[in-house]
Amino acid sequence: MDSAPELLSFAAQVFDKYGGIAEQDDNHVMALLPPGLARSLNLPEEVQLGDGAVPLLYGSPVLDRLIQVATEEIPLIFGRIEVPYLKKGGFDQLIGQDIVFTNGQARVTGRADARTSYMVLICRYVALSDERKEGLVEVGTHEGTGAIIEDLETLWPEFRPGFYVPGKVPPHFSIHLERAVANAMQKARVLAEEKLTDFIKSMGRRLRRDVKNTREYYQALRKEMEASLSHHNLSEAQRHERIAKIEDLPGEMARKIEDLQQKYKIQVRLRPCAALRFLVNVVQIIVGIRLRKQTRTIHLTWNPISRRLDPLVCERCCETTRSVHAREEDSRILLLCPSCAQKQ
Ligand SMILES: [Zn+2]
Repeated sequence: MDSAPELLSFAAQVFDKYGGIAEQDDNHVMALLPPGLARSLNLPEEVQLGDGAVPLLYGSPVLDRLIQVATEEIPLIFGRIEVPYLKKGGFDQLIGQDIVFTNGQARVTGRADARTSYMVLICRYVALSDERKEGLVEVGTHEGTGAIIEDLETLWPEFRPGFYVPGKVPPHFSIHLERAVANAMQKARVLAEEKLTDFIKSMGRRLRRDVKNTREYYQALRKEMEASLSHHNLSEAQRHERIAKIEDLPGEMARKIEDLQQKYKIQVRLRPCAALRFLVNVVQIIVGIRLRKQTRTIHLTWNPISRRLDPLVCERCCETTRSVHAREEDSRILLLCPSCAQKQ
């Protein structure tokens, strides 16, 4: 099995944050780890995760240890959200509205009151370049599926949640958070990059300006030096020296430009700094899916905070999606996001 790309980038982020040096490719991460980190992860100091080496999969012990390292210092706050009213009917209309099945048939066959848990992960980003820029981003996820829940981070305060005191947290929270944390970190990275758009643009502008100035400077210098060759009082040796200097100019300019590229290179660090976890009463909708001769039953969640059905998670790439394509594979129905649906 291939390692999921979001897990590889999550691993690379954890390595980076704890002093390792990580390089991520399409299907693997190569890293040099400081001894302490290697010990806590039970990995060698020089390690390759992914393709052709240690696979990084959901539920794998390596991933568990990565999550543990990534979250152990984060303050966790536990709470519950009680809503006065849970939607009773009309769920059929939400299929095709909140979640679109692009093929096959999907039919609501039942409903049940249920309780589930959501997490709002708060991450700090720091972008380093010629200047420094930092800020916070928040991402809401469903803890069980890892689906990203839009606007959860802004909606929850309206519901005035009750908070549990430490030691009195009920045991109903999800234990396996790998997917939720990995997906939330991935989303946080996208949000941080959005917030950094102006910063990235401004560094790009400055780089282009400085490169242009450098080129102009060397062009002018070259002209000046070439003109000086025609002076009558130059000895043959001086002439040769100047010609050699002129020939060195393109190399010197290339090195200066390379230095500028280093100066304006942007490195973004992202780390989780707090998590809010909520138990929420929801409605579970039972949906029967039919594709040719295959059938399958799935559960969807009607979320009283967002007042809509939660999105699904692609069963191939784990991307959150509201547009679901059913595919028959090994006599069962697989639910895919639009981009995986286009691939074979
Ligand atoms: Zn997918």
